[in-house]
Amino acid sequence: MPRQPATKTYQCFIGGEWVNASTGESFDSFDPFTGKPWARIPKCAPADVDRAVEAARRALEHGAWAAMHPSQRGQLMRRFADLIARDADHLAAIEVQDNGKLIAEMRGQVGYIPQWYHYFGGLADKIEGGVLPIDKPDMFAYTRHEPVGVVAAITPWNSPLLLTTWKLAPALAAGCTLVLKPSEFTSASTLELMKLVEEAGFPPGVINVVTGFGADVGEALTTHKGVDKIAFTGGEASGRHIAQNAMAGFKRVSLELGGKSAQVIFPDADIGNAVKGVVSGIFAATGQTCIAGSRVLVHESVHDQFLEQFLALAKTAQMGDPMERTTQVGPVTTQSQFKRILSCIDMAKTEGAECVMGGVPSTRPECGDGWFIEPTVFDRVKNSMRIAQEEVFGPVLSVITFKEDDEAYALANDTNYGLAAGIWTASQRRAFTAAKRLKAGTVWTNCYRAVSYMAPFGGIKHSGLGRESGQDAIYDFLETKCVWMDYGPAQANPFVMR
Ligand code: NAD
Repeated sequence: MPRQPATKTYQCFIGGEWVNASTGESFDSFDPFTGKPWARIPKCAPADVDRAVEAARRALEHGAWAAMHPSQRGQLMRRFADLIARDADHLAAIEVQDNGKLIAEMRGQVGYIPQWYHYFGGLADKIEGGVLPIDKPDMFAYTRHEPVGVVAAITPWNSPLLLTTWKLAPALAAGCTLVLKPSEFTSASTLELMKLVEEAGFPPGVINVVTGFGADVGEALTTHKGVDKIAFTGGEASGRHIAQNAMAGFKRVSLELGGKSAQVIFPDADIGNAVKGVVSGIFAATGQTCIAGSRVLVHESVHDQFLEQFLALAKTAQMGDPMERTTQVGPVTTQSQFKRILSCIDMAKTEGAECVMGGVPSTRPECGDGWFIEPTVFDRVKNSMRIAQEEVFGPVLSVITFKEDDEAYALANDTNYGLAAGIWTASQRRAFTAAKRLKAGTVWTNCYRAVSYMAPFGGIKHSGLGRESGQDAIYDFLETKCVWMDYGPAQANPFVMR
């Protein structure tokens, strides 16, 4: 796939119009493979947030979107899905250039994204209220589910299109309007998506995008009086701060945060499959995924066999230009993340973990000037070490051994996070027991890193609040209203509660 030849200049999308930031300023977005800027992104300010929230409020309360029947919203969403499918190759290439994700993964991902809009578009006209069998004479009561209102959707730099979709699809189906704020490191694909929002025919103001930094644009959004709900994906510290802002304004909030997910390899596991599953959990997407299976808990009797096969496979990983279909491990998305991963590697070495692979920036010629780190494996890690407790968000695996099943569950759960876990076993008893005992929002058994529009996704503990995808996700964007009607002949005693 060719790269965009010259520097591309983007505008943000507010009230159905393409506009520059009110400051007139912009900033660079970098191609992680070349390490050079390739796009200019508007540097919005709180004044732009005001305009975007006002546009979203107008669209929510007046005009075509507010008047639209849920079935019509569904139709519009399906049209949008078809346009994404039509332009999948283009969107994938933009994401690769801006983020460094592999073209091989992005083609599949963008090809799959329309399913979220089909699924939630189909759900839009199936959200039914209920008639309550109320226990009071001459009274009738029913429930209505109404859009929660204006949603601020804030996304991180890994998987911008997919994570935006996880919020956008259920919010639109629910009848909400949105202000999106993509990561300052990877705003381009979200802005490209807005061209299709326009072409699909969403009324102005239903979906707006402001670009810029967390401290000013993000802060202005999460404290804005006109925002009713914040749907956030990002790091733990930002999530904690945003939750505090939400509480101060009594806004609804959902948080998809980080993880330190365990992959548990029992002695009866098919080791060849477990090896592939662990590779997919930690080296796919260069480990820059919230669900990275960054801790392997392996039974001591199969440790040597696992490690030998794992290293043999990991060493074949082809690094290089993410635009090449054959590349298997791409660059780290940002220079600051590149430095952070290296500092985590140094920390692990200082703590006494044994580096058995990688542990250094890549000097392979095919990696050019990009921000590449060699796939890294630490053996003899103790779960109490910081390398086993802190999210690295890079291609760094910690290997820890256990003797008994109970010990494996205790180690897996001994972390602040609770996003995901993997189990590798041939035993049905172990599979069911582990699925019950592991404290995580998702448990994969003899597989890893599978997601679907049908499958609820989210974390417990410090990994977040709420679930995205799956039917219930729409209720995060709805409020339940109860309506009472009295059809009796006269009002009862007004001094007592009915
Ligand atoms: P980040 O928290 O630094 O930034 C995420 C977004 O929040 C960005 O758009 C940023 O500009 C914005 N932001 C930052 N500070 C803000 C503030 N004070 N107010 C409002 N907005 C603010 O995260 P990141 O480094 O971009 O992403 C990596 C993190 O995201 C990792 O911890 C990863 O685990 C997590 N993540 C979680 C999931 C999930 O579904 N659970 C998915 C992907 C990534």
